[in-house]
Amino acid sequence: MTTEQLRQKDKDLIWHPFAPLITPFEYIPLESAKGMYLHTTEGKKIIDTVSSWWVNIHGHADETLAKALYDQALTMEHAIFAGFTHKPAIKLSENLMKLLPDSFSKIFFSDNGSSAIEVALKMAFQYWYNRDEKQRTKVVAINGAYHGDTFGAMSVGERGGFTAPFFPFLFDVDFIDFPDADNQAEVLSTFETLVSDDKCSTFIFEPLVQGSGGMRMYSAELLDQLIAIAQKYGVICIADEVMTGFGRTGKPLATDYCIHKPDLICLSKGITGGTMALGITACNEKIEEAFQSDSYAKALLHGHSYTGNPLACAVANASFEIFMSDTCQNNIARIQAKHEAFAKTLEKQSQIEKVRVQGTIVAFDLKGFGETGYESTARQKIYPYFLERGILIRPLGNVIYLLPPYIITDEELDFVYKEILTFLEQL
Ligand SMILES: *Cc1c(COP(=O)(O)O)cnc(C)c1O
Repeated sequence: MTTEQLRQKDKDLIWHPFAPLITPFEYIPLESAKGMYLHTTEGKKIIDTVSSWWVNIHGHADETLAKALYDQALTMEHAIFAGFTHKPAIKLSENLMKLLPDSFSKIFFSDNGSSAIEVALKMAFQYWYNRDEKQRTKVVAINGAYHGDTFGAMSVGERGGFTAPFFPFLFDVDFIDFPDADNQAEVLSTFETLVSDDKCSTFIFEPLVQGSGGMRMYSAELLDQLIAIAQKYGVICIADEVMTGFGRTGKPLATDYCIHKPDLICLSKGITGGTMALGITACNEKIEEAFQSDSYAKALLHGHSYTGNPLACAVANASFEIFMSDTCQNNIARIQAKHEAFAKTLEKQSQIEKVRVQGTIVAFDLKGFGETGYESTARQKIYPYFLERGILIRPLGNVIYLLPPYIITDEELDFVYKEILTFLEQL
């Protein structure tokens, strides 16, 4: 098929995510992806500075991951996870326990970040149900949050354009202001009022960085205080580490920067290095204890057809090995140092503000483009500009960010930085 035919068939048949059905741009047919690059059917190569929606932490088509997938496919591609168990899932649980806080004791498998969030919410809500404190139904979240696109996940996320058609179907949540330099005392006191209510059940948050909300960053000290306050009143804390997990913020988990640990942690995006879809909800002993019963009435009656999928687990184990290697850990530290140096240069640019770095993420806001949001005019300008130059940068409204695979080289970073500076100059 020619590129033109692929484009036409795509237009006829496929409903792409997060976009109107009629768009001014055409979807670009890809032939392959390898390492840092996407290769189009027209022979163009595009550097993937966003890890293809934050999943490909080791770059594309990694041979170790591909081999793990192939070997597992010939051994056992899938088996029902009710009544049976298997080595890839057990191995992955052991591996994840090495990253999770000491108090953590159980791993639950699903297929994506949104599902991992649904499971965490259900565990938190049922925790109170099982303890016969059924009045505990209030939930606290942070303004600007994004936790996924299923109904529970939408309910605890920012109420905005993305969820407007569903407002009548979302459950009530109390949102606190996003913590910034000026409002910390206020945020903490509002928060304490909300969680000290004996109807409060759960606090859910994206630790250190709100991803989809515009790579907005807040301090580990403040998060630590929020968790401590919530736990003082017994409120269950859910850390949505779907984006931040696996080194994105510099440490394996963003909550590694905190002294107080959440009760539930959700992982997904980076977990298989972008090779298979997998979601994890991990809980501590406190949560587990409320479910320790032989009664179905107290069981978490939730599951997915592909739960514990051996292919996903095997590839997650292979990805874990790469992630734990000195090479990968050094790359993470190297990217952070490069971003920090680049941030110093960015701070001198008058067209932008709020330059920020957390681990392997660098982000800044373009001035004068108004609204932060998917439909902002900045996006319509920035995205095609960089694509034409062979760079995949997907701004979040007027926020430009890099969130690269850890294999990106210094030369590749320098190339992307230089193109960003050139873009700013011509604004
Ligand atoms: C992407 C994301 C999700 C949703 O994960 P999906 O796999 O897209 O369902 C949830 N929380 C955060 C913080 C995310 O970045």
